[in-house]
Amino acid sequence: MEERIQSLMHEVKSYLARDKKDLDAFRMKYISKKGVIGELFEELRQVSADQKKNVGKVLNQLKQTAEAKLAELSEKVELGPAASSLEIDLTLPPIPNEIGNMHPLNLTRYRIIEIFERLGFNVADGPEIEDDWHNFSALNFPENHPAREMQDTFFIEKKGNADNKQDVVLRTHTSNVQIRMMENQKPPLRAIMPGRVYRNEAISARAHCFFHQVEGLYVDKNVGFADLKQTLYHFAKEMYGQDIKIRFRPSYFPFTEPSAEIDVTCLICKGKGCNVCKYSGWVEIAGSGMVHPNVLKKCNIDPEEFTGFAFGMGIERITMLRYQINDLRIFSENDVRFLKQFQPII
Ligand SMILES: [Zn+2]
Repeated sequence: MEERIQSLMHEVKSYLARDKKDLDAFRMKYISKKGVIGELFEELRQVSADQKKNVGKVLNQLKQTAEAKLAELSEKVELGPAASSLEIDLTLPPIPNEIGNMHPLNLTRYRIIEIFERLGFNVADGPEIEDDWHNFSALNFPENHPAREMQDTFFIEKKGNADNKQDVVLRTHTSNVQIRMMENQKPPLRAIMPGRVYRNEAISARAHCFFHQVEGLYVDKNVGFADLKQTLYHFAKEMYGQDIKIRFRPSYFPFTEPSAEIDVTCLICKGKGCNVCKYSGWVEIAGSGMVHPNVLKKCNIDPEEFTGFAFGMGIERITMLRYQINDLRIFSENDVRFLKQFQPII
């Protein structure tokens, strides 16, 4: 009888189960009450008393081994073939690691920062959720002023108690950072402010409800319009090459006086006309102007002593021209086929 137990032990240890069927067969043969081990326990009753102890011991070992084996086999079958070391095919080619790359908007943002840093501009940051004062009032947009309509705003909640009711908005431009800078620091100030902004726009190839801006501010003694013009000419040439054509157009913003918009030749259609330039051959890349004396006063800077210029541009627009992209919606669609075209420079 002991010999039979030993041979069964060997069988149990070397049993292979490929699927559930094999597993059931194992259970029926060894574990179930009518299985071979069950039968051996029946036979144990007939064994003489002097042998009973030894035979019983090995038989119990066999039972425990079979149960442990069953547990091991069930786990392997449930996890599938990959879990079994026998199933791994070491000759298969490896899955290549995909190296990510920077988003085109970030590539452009870093290029803009690089250009302005060389002109001595710092980088400043501020909140995306802003109060009415920093987004509008301090920028010379009085309440109920029609200029507020130029920017359709997401208002999010009322802040403060009844005596101090201020609207809270998702900032419509990064100009709030300019105000925070002028409030907290003394001139000379020279910084750019990149960041995300929000407007309640109908989404199209040219506009989205969120986009990115870079604004710039330079406040010091004797800062003039010539400095503004030269700075933006320099920027456009650094970004798009020395041959780019640039024009300044008079414009209106509540926070600058005089104000100008800056256009460059459309690099998508090379001036022939397309949906991005509205078939004019020119694309506006920035708004700019001399900081309005009222804005300086609201930030406790004496406009008799200091002057300054400010400008703002959309990073999406700059990127579209840079890479000849004709629809800005694609920047936020997360389409890997588009995004992986902007390979990192290693
Ligand atoms: Zn065009």
